[in-house]
Amino acid sequence: GEAAIGRVMAQVAMVMNLDKCIGCHTCSVTCKQTWTNRPGSEYMWFNNVETKPGTGYPRRYEDQERWKGGWTLNRRGKLKLKAGGRLRKLATLFYNPELPSLDDFYEPWTYDYQSLTTAPLSDSFPSARPKSQLTGRDMRPVHGPNWDDDLAGADSYAAADPNLEGMSERVRLEFEKAFMFYLPRICEHCLNPSCVASCPSGAMYKRVEDGIVLVDQDRCRGWRFCVSGCPYKKVYFNHRTGKAEKCTFCYPRIEAGQPTICSETCVGRLRHLGVMLYDADAVLRAASVTDEKDLYEAQLSVFLDPHDPRVRAAAERDGIAHDWIQAARRSPAYAMIKKHRVALPLHPEYRTMPMVWYIPPLSPVTEALHVTGHHHDDPDRIFAAIDSLRIPVEYLANLFTAGDTTVVEGVLRKLTVMRTHMRRAQLGDPADPE
Ligand code: SF4
Ligand code: SF4
Repeated sequence: GEAAIGRVMAQVAMVMNLDKCIGCHTCSVTCKQTWTNRPGSEYMWFNNVETKPGTGYPRRYEDQERWKGGWTLNRRGKLKLKAGGRLRKLATLFYNPELPSLDDFYEPWTYDYQSLTTAPLSDSFPSARPKSQLTGRDMRPVHGPNWDDDLAGADSYAAADPNLEGMSERVRLEFEKAFMFYLPRICEHCLNPSCVASCPSGAMYKRVEDGIVLVDQDRCRGWRFCVSGCPYKKVYFNHRTGKAEKCTFCYPRIEAGQPTICSETCVGRLRHLGVMLYDADAVLRAASVTDEKDLYEAQLSVFLDPHDPRVRAAAERDGIAHDWIQAARRSPAYAMIKKHRVALPLHPEYRTMPMVWYIPPLSPVTEALHVTGHHHDDPDRIFAAIDSLRIPVEYLANLFTAGDTTVVEGVLRKLTVMRTHMRRAQLGDPADPE
């Protein structure tokens, strides 16, 4: 017979379709106006949009080795100190060095708007002067929350040929290979949140009813272990209040049945909100699979089909509110994540079971793909043009599947087929026989 369904829990989730993000930062700005426009929160972007490839915000947060000595999840999905030992633990309790610095985020400045019209030209500099903060390979003249967008990869070309004069063959080839896309990020509201596990004060918690991860401001003692413990670096320390702060998934709006601010104001309409039902008893087992490449499948395995009557009965048994079960049935999240497998988790190898998933970008559509698609060819043949996709499949796999290119190719294939189908439909041609 079928395996028994463990304890059912409900979780808000977000799926972002990266092909649609235009990098306008409207989501970041509206989030900031709502949540981080207070003293001490100037440098915080609960929602940020970073350019990939790039160093991200905070700078090099994906370089997990950099935070070594902090907390990590072991293979069983349990939190432990990376360097063990009681002495180390004591030292870490009193001194927590594995924190990103303000330089890693960026130094905000106050722009003097008066200068636009009245002041002499020399006064219009921002108060934080550009300065070199890194050396060698990582050298950047300045840094900002989406600095790589301004660079547009130009630094590597400049390094190859500083004046870009008489562009060498090598540099020209580099230009032709260039690719970029935007990656909007919020807290992942993880199923296995290491921020919660690392908080010595019990101030971080995951809400039972919807899985939103919050900081209890009264209980927070400013240890900042959540900052070092979060692999996505999505907890921020407010130096004015001495407390941790993070994305709240706009919980007051969710409670009122409204979307998050970032979703509501997204110009590309790419953020899908949904409720996922999952088997809470399966979470630690899934987070602790031995082979990193199995983590995507493992995380998929904890999600329950809200249309399955057995799941519905188990959800009712476990006290999931009726309208949350309904929301899970109505939401596109389950279909995109598990049924059609077109959405992928960000860095599943962090083992925190993130709940913001991404439809990877297919674009820019190459000439080959576009022309064949227009001529109504077989999707398989169109997909054969995958070699000419500008964003390397390996790059996407390192972001979304711990390196498994087969899964990413499967997603891109489906996106290609869907794009071809829509093109047919919109050109008024007969639909696919399928
Ligand atoms: Fe916690 Fe970081 Fe996961 Fe958010 S992304 S729930 S802050 S571990
Ligand atoms: Fe991208 Fe939407 Fe944010 Fe604009 S508002 S940057 S389209 S996620």
